[in-house]
Amino acid sequence: MLILICDAFDKSLPERLAKFGDVTEDVARLPHAEVALVRSKTKCTADWIAGAPKLKLIIRGGVGLDNVDLKAAKERGVEVRNTPAASAVAVAELAFCLMLAVPNKLVEAHNALKEGKFLKKEIKRTELFGKTLGLVGLGRIASEVAKRAAAFGMRVLTYDPFVKRSDVAIMVPTLKELLGQADYISMHVPLTDETRGMINSSAIAAMKDGVVIVNTGRGKCIAEEDLAEALRSGKVGAYATDVWYSDPPDPASPILSAPNVLMTPHIGANSKENLLRIGNEVVALLESWVK
Ligand code: NAD
Repeated sequence: MLILICDAFDKSLPERLAKFGDVTEDVARLPHAEVALVRSKTKCTADWIAGAPKLKLIIRGGVGLDNVDLKAAKERGVEVRNTPAASAVAVAELAFCLMLAVPNKLVEAHNALKEGKFLKKEIKRTELFGKTLGLVGLGRIASEVAKRAAAFGMRVLTYDPFVKRSDVAIMVPTLKELLGQADYISMHVPLTDETRGMINSSAIAAMKDGVVIVNTGRGKCIAEEDLAEALRSGKVGAYATDVWYSDPPDPASPILSAPNVLMTPHIGANSKENLLRIGNEVVALLESWVK
């Protein structure tokens, strides 16, 4: 059996997978692979699957399956698995890091000092304590964010029509209600037909003035033009994002040139510890798959 590692995994993985068969990182060998390991970089389109006639299993190291054409895989009889549990803490810590960096003006303060400016009087911070956080989606990652927010003294609301009850957040029945109450909004939904562009001009109109939006979910859940306009007008106070329409973003993305944006290059799952956890889940998946 040939196992093809397409994207970046922990460097110990090839050695750990050797007990299952031959392991390669040479993507030119896709036509011979029975198992392919991808993260978000490789797009497993219908054409990509057609180019892998021996493929039986795709393992997506991570959560979202929006880079895999599930219909094409099913038609070809290719099984698709992911490692949903591994990344929650890593992504939640980045979401919280972005949420702390905005009101504490970390980037402005750091850049000013680099330029020789000591803006002690000019830089005014605000606190998370006492503010309301609205979590859009209450899955694994959002639940970890909720616990951290509670420790910071935030009131935590969530909108998730598929979750019936929660110990970590107050559930609200509509997205509009959440948007109207939140000082901070953190996005944690998968990209689906329903969530694509869900933060658009009408959703933004329902938000409090000066709201801060944090996005470690998926870039396409935001209507970029609408958000850029709201950042320019000041309706949205800041947008802190790890995720984009594409990796890397199109240089023409209006988010790149909008004011009050804090950006990271899709590194939510990239902690050293998480890569090890993903590797453990991949090994466990293969162990049960070969049985
Ligand atoms: P999860 O499946 O545990 O949770 C997703 C939640 O969203 C579920 O509870 C679901 O009920 C809810 N949901 C679905 N549609 C909804 C809707 N229309 N409105 C409100 N809620 C809705 O997933 P997770 O592990 O928490 O991950 C969430 C997302 O984060 C992933 O789908 C992925 O897109 C993204 N992610 C990003 C990174 C990164 O590197 N930044 C890493 C991992 C995951």
